[in-house]
Amino acid sequence: MNKILFLAHTEENDELSRLTLESLTAAKKMSAELNIPLLVGIIGDNIEKTKIIASAAPEAIFTIQGEEFKYSRYSSDALAIETICKEVAPTYIVAPATSRFSRVLPGVAHRLSGEIDTFVSALSIDNNKLFITRWYYRQRMYATLTRTKTPWIMTIAPGNFEKFEGSEQDFSFTNLTPTSTDTLMQTKIEGFVSPNCGKQTLKPEAELLFVAGAGWSKKQSDGNTKLAKAAELILDFLNKTDASLGGSKSVVDMSSEGEEALSFMTHLNQVGQTGATPSHKKGLSTCCHGEEPHAVGWRFINERRAVNLDPNCGWAQGKADVLYVADAFAVIEKVNKILSYK
Ligand SMILES: Cc1cc2nc3c(=O)[nH]c(=O)nc-3n(C[C@H](O)[C@H](O)[C@H](O)COP(=O)(O)OP(=O)(O)OC[C@H]3O[C@@H](n4cnc5c(N)ncnc54)[C@H](O)[C@@H]3O)c2cc1C
Repeated sequence: MNKILFLAHTEENDELSRLTLESLTAAKKMSAELNIPLLVGIIGDNIEKTKIIASAAPEAIFTIQGEEFKYSRYSSDALAIETICKEVAPTYIVAPATSRFSRVLPGVAHRLSGEIDTFVSALSIDNNKLFITRWYYRQRMYATLTRTKTPWIMTIAPGNFEKFEGSEQDFSFTNLTPTSTDTLMQTKIEGFVSPNCGKQTLKPEAELLFVAGAGWSKKQSDGNTKLAKAAELILDFLNKTDASLGGSKSVVDMSSEGEEALSFMTHLNQVGQTGATPSHKKGLSTCCHGEEPHAVGWRFINERRAVNLDPNCGWAQGKADVLYVADAFAVIEKVNKILSYK
């Protein structure tokens, strides 16, 4: 009998991430359209805060609980997922493309003699057959494909499905105990080390992407550079809006090339052809020219605005919905002031 297994893991705060709930929507859709039952597997230390899953009405819920499953560790995660999969014997396995699952699921697919497709962005059913869509070659091409081999594991990319909304409900579950050995648990998790960017500036779930370009470091109308002021304005804006920070290649390269730079800007922030292609509802570009290798990274930003002194910059060539021809220092200072009244 065909079955769909939806896999979730709790986060550090024992909650489910937004991506997990988006992926649950994908699994529900698949179950409804293929008319096959949905089952759930949850891995974590404490599953108290996962009650929303019950309102997706799964046929059964299996858990693997315990302190040793709180954090990502390849050996214990692979064992936990394998244990659930052997119990459920699913045809399709749907999971969020979190870093934790992205790391372990390809190995699990191998152990189960199945197949895996990562970062799935759409699902469709044709003639009772499941098709998935995913991007290739840095989101320049996409393919729609299907497979016959099972179990077929799919990890869901962020921003493609609505977040699952439901009420929290108590649920009954079967707790499985994997047969672990000490060697599987010998890697100890001592904590996290973040990139040296002062604060967490990458927020994939933020509504707004704020992009800073190299213009922030250039000589301004009075003939001086104002990097300290730029850093203050940008960080104040990020604090007030909770936006995610992006940068152009020129601005992120500055520190590695030994120039005076924005200390919190790293290569992880780079948006564009050789950087990231984030998906946020809105984007605001400041002091960035909007050249094609940069703007191509804005492909999935729905509403785009830019602030640039140059009325002929790239954003004016149809790449932004609104271009404010203005001094970004003055604009962001004013916006920060307005935001502080809120
Ligand atoms: C193969 C290749 C791959 C590349 N990949 C990427 C990539 O992934 N991402 C990327 O970003 N770039 C990439 N580039 C580089 C890209 O072509 C541009 O060089 C880069 O994006 C320029 O960065 P910028 O717009 O921040 O800087 P600049 O071109 O220096 O533009 C600065 C802008 O700031 C404006 N400005 C200055 N002061 C103010 C002010 N006070 N208020 C408002 N505006 C102001 C100026 O008018 C100017 O438009 C790539 C290039 C190549 C060849």
